[in-house]
Amino acid sequence: MNFKKLEFFLENEPGYRIKQIEKALYHDLIEDWSHATSLPNYLRTRLNSEFPIDKYNNSKVISLVNNTLKNKTILGDGLAIESVLMMYEGKRNTVCVSSQAGCPLGCIFCKTGEIGFKRNLEVFEIIDQVLFFARYLKKAGTRITNIVFMGMGEPFLNFTNVSEAIGILNNKEKLNIGARHISVSTAGLPDGIRKFANIGIQANLAISLNAPNNGLRTKIMPINKKHPIGELMKASSYYVKKTKRRVMFEYVLIKDLNDSLEFAEELAGLLKNYLYFVNLIPYNGKGKLKPPSTKTISSFKKILKDNHINVTERFRFGRDINAACGQLACNGKNN
Ligand code: SF4
Repeated sequence: MNFKKLEFFLENEPGYRIKQIEKALYHDLIEDWSHATSLPNYLRTRLNSEFPIDKYNNSKVISLVNNTLKNKTILGDGLAIESVLMMYEGKRNTVCVSSQAGCPLGCIFCKTGEIGFKRNLEVFEIIDQVLFFARYLKKAGTRITNIVFMGMGEPFLNFTNVSEAIGILNNKEKLNIGARHISVSTAGLPDGIRKFANIGIQANLAISLNAPNNGLRTKIMPINKKHPIGELMKASSYYVKKTKRRVMFEYVLIKDLNDSLEFAEELAGLLKNYLYFVNLIPYNGKGKLKPPSTKTISSFKKILKDNHINVTERFRFGRDINAACGQLACNGKNN
């Protein structure tokens, strides 16, 4: 829902209306304005016709294993984006949101990269992805616990809107999700990392690294040509000094490309900082690139551990509905 248009629409209403509307939307998680009982009838009717809730969220695919739900949102201009809810056995409900329609960075393991860049998402388009799942979970008697900006797009290329959206997600009177439960994943834009450190949001930073040296990283992530690893490590170290917070380095393991044990040794050498840790993500997709073997994953992990690097492995959600990392791609249009 376009908040700016909504504010304009309410300009002749008393000032307290906006608070009532925010409570209905963010707190009561209404699905229809007729349920916003604090509002007068005439206003509920007008809101239903001019600002219908959930107007565009028209495609839902529920994972066969029933712990993942992917939603496709058709935006006002007909472009489509995807977001995913991952439910961890009643302990955590994480929503993965998109920040752009498409993405200009073209990482080779990523479906979104293949479709190219369409446009940045507006703040309300980011928030609507979250509200959709918040309403879904409310019916199940639970709530969103975590947000990750790891869907379609590079969040730091849409820095202003992403940071404003984080403000709304974190605001106690709005979605009230603790900043430490919000993570932003970047392909490694040094200026974005510094800006993120400077604005003082307590959200987590993840950097998609995927290779321990420039030659290999440029093959996997073309952005590395413009911002090589040295620059990235300087920005990470700035972030750590400024915020005293940990940085997660994501490493998508791809068979016979970046999963050799030599690369694990080289990675361990690169990440010698007690506030750095590695999240290994076994490649999920189909096609030319292949997932690593279970044996390779555990040997890679062992080398990092032996070198005193903290390492975790990401559980693979939603592979059956193309909702796993690097699989969000609805061609950027309504199809
Ligand atoms: S992995 Fe992220 S940055 Fe890379 S192409 Fe995909 S969406 Fe863009």
